Amino acid sequence: MAIEWKVLGRAGADNALHVVVDSGVARESFLFDCGEGVLESLRAGEVKAVSHLAFSHFHMDHVAGFDGFFRINYNRSDAPVTVWGPAGTVELMGHRFRGFVWNLHADQEGEWIVREIGKTALGTARYLTREAFTPAHRQPDQPREGTLLHRGASWRLEGRLLPHGLIDSVAYRLAESPRLNIDAAAMKRNDYLPGPWLRRIVDATADEEETLVEVAGRSLRVGELRRELLVTTPGMSLAYLTDFRVEPDSPAWEELVTWLSGTTVLVCECQYRAADYTLARQNAHMTADLVGRLAAEAGVGRLILHHLSRRYSSEDWRQMRSEAAAFFPRTELPVEWGLS
Ligand SMILES: [Zn+2]
Ligand SMILES: [Zn+2]
Repeated sequence: MAIEWKVLGRAGADNALHVVVDSGVARESFLFDCGEGVLESLRAGEVKAVSHLAFSHFHMDHVAGFDGFFRINYNRSDAPVTVWGPAGTVELMGHRFRGFVWNLHADQEGEWIVREIGKTALGTARYLTREAFTPAHRQPDQPREGTLLHRGASWRLEGRLLPHGLIDSVAYRLAESPRLNIDAAAMKRNDYLPGPWLRRIVDATADEEETLVEVAGRSLRVGELRRELLVTTPGMSLAYLTDFRVEPDSPAWEELVTWLSGTTVLVCECQYRAADYTLARQNAHMTADLVGRLAAEAGVGRLILHHLSRRYSSEDWRQMRSEAAAFFPRTELPVEWGLS
């Protein structure tokens, strides 16, 4: 079980994040944003395997590569593609889907589920390739439950709306479900021998009091065995933040710190150097020192910087890492950039 990830795109160019959650039984792929050229470092098979495409917002540098993604996936037959984004995503994606001539589509497979994240509700619409993406099949809005967006088989996807000037930018957090393991030392201590009965212990449907299993010549309650044998390990988590400005020590900052608390890997925008504080504020972006502070206060495992401004030289980009690392030493630039 693991979350594998890779920052796409070069330093100073459009960036995106490719993520695979490997549960040991299944692999599910996510793509966070899709700017120009970001798919170049993925194989076609990897692009085809993406089941969730999550946009932070629709400034051009985050969506300019979508046509390439769509071209590979528009008539995918195995599973629908779910597209996530802020309010307005359903209409905007409808325009993207319909921005081509469709006359050979009637027997084509392909289903796109578009979900837009409002302040209090989640909106959903389905688009079908065989209908040339017209109409949008709107479904009733669902109230939002805290930050939860979607629960997969072995993970949960969370989202928060962050301010990016006058618009919202969605910050995403993907967390693996906690893992339940059998404690080998406790097995030995109790003289229990492994067998099919162990499956009942990890089976969530087995009732703690009612379900009995035969083990070591005795009939024992599942609840009792769970307390003796199960150890819960938290899963890995990863957050993707880009294009936002939150002032330190503000209520929004505190909420963000709490939400990110203990996240294994934080992939965060770092558009400006600390000295360009005024420019960063004007353009509703973060500076390197603030990003480092955010990672430190949230106590994340690692901080990976992306979305660095092209106004800087490669030496500036190295300096930005240092500016963040002054607050949070485990700050890295993507290894593919060759700057470290
Ligand atoms: Zn951007
Ligand atoms: Zn933006």
